[in-house]
Amino acid sequence: PSTIIKKLFLEGKMVTVNTEIDFAGAEEIALEYEIMCEKEVKVDMIEELLKEEEENEADMTSRPPVVCVMGHVDHGKTSLLDAIRETNVISGEAGGITQHIGASVVKINDRKITFLDTPGHEAFTAMRMRGAQSTDIAILVVAADDGVMPQTVEAINHAKAAGIEIIVAINKIDKPGANIERVKQELAEYELLAADWGGNTEMVPVSAHTREGIEELLEMVLLQADVLELKANPDRMARGIVIEAKLDKGKGPVSTVLVQKGTLHIGDHIAAGANYGKVRAMTDDRGNRITEAGPSTPVEILGLSGVPNAGEVFVAKETANEAKAFAETFIADSKEKLLEGTKYRIS
Ligand code: GDP
Ligand code: MG
Repeated sequence: PSTIIKKLFLEGKMVTVNTEIDFAGAEEIALEYEIMCEKEVKVDMIEELLKEEEENEADMTSRPPVVCVMGHVDHGKTSLLDAIRETNVISGEAGGITQHIGASVVKINDRKITFLDTPGHEAFTAMRMRGAQSTDIAILVVAADDGVMPQTVEAINHAKAAGIEIIVAINKIDKPGANIERVKQELAEYELLAADWGGNTEMVPVSAHTREGIEELLEMVLLQADVLELKANPDRMARGIVIEAKLDKGKGPVSTVLVQKGTLHIGDHIAAGANYGKVRAMTDDRGNRITEAGPSTPVEILGLSGVPNAGEVFVAKETANEAKAFAETFIADSKEKLLEGTKYRIS
């Protein structure tokens, strides 16, 4: 009542809690009031759903960096990822690169780096829309014979907006027309100044074809990771993000998730967006069955009730009921948003 009285007062109508108001006036208030409340409820729901207690610094241990590759079409993103993975193939492993799950873990100097296959900008625009962040470092690939192109600029803007560190890979240095200095000069116009020019951005000349510079690039990623002091608590319920998901005829919903905090185990109750279930099986990026996955590990899981969307947050819960409640709240929230959209269109 006090909210309604206050509103009428502000409109110059002197009312008390016993005053009768006409239908039109009531309707006007009701419509406004409902929208106002719905907005409050909506915000609370999603916040409540994703709310986390702050973690103890003492429980945090260092975790591998999560890296994506961005850049203009044909500048060599796919080739570079392949070269990085092949450099890393354990000799004797059948078929070199085995399973493809949309992400891979590379080992260098006994440390791990997690690479996402999704083109960086797609991955983190989708994730940012849902309030999550997947990537720590972006490798910006620029072809040395082509220089900065429109999608290079787009990638720079996306990475900057998302607050992600950029390391530049100046690719195709084996080509006759390659001009490393020109690339650095062009990038300087977008506020990426090479470290050897007194700036803050590491730029590593590489060739995905000859593999020159690949090790240096990976070492640079690890150095950057040290600067960022990436940490997570491995001893808690898992939480992370869906990288990709599909429906498999035989296996049902198959989802690749990136564990960001905690450790995910076989048998854990989980929810991802509107879906929930129990982890029935887990496979790592090399196709090995595993029973647990810690921070920064990409893993393919079976057991969700449906196919979640890339970019949605997943959480492990103590009980099946809690996982289900998470999914149901998520559904209710999505419905409200839909309804709200409809209402605004009608009125
Ligand atoms: P993407 O569109 O950024 O994923 O680029 P791709 O990896 O598909 O590469 C585009 C083309 O450039 C392909 O024909 C590659 O073989 C070629 N390419 C990629 N990296 C190199 C490189 O280091 N040297 C040379 N000479 N060609 C490359
Ligand atoms: Mg490609």
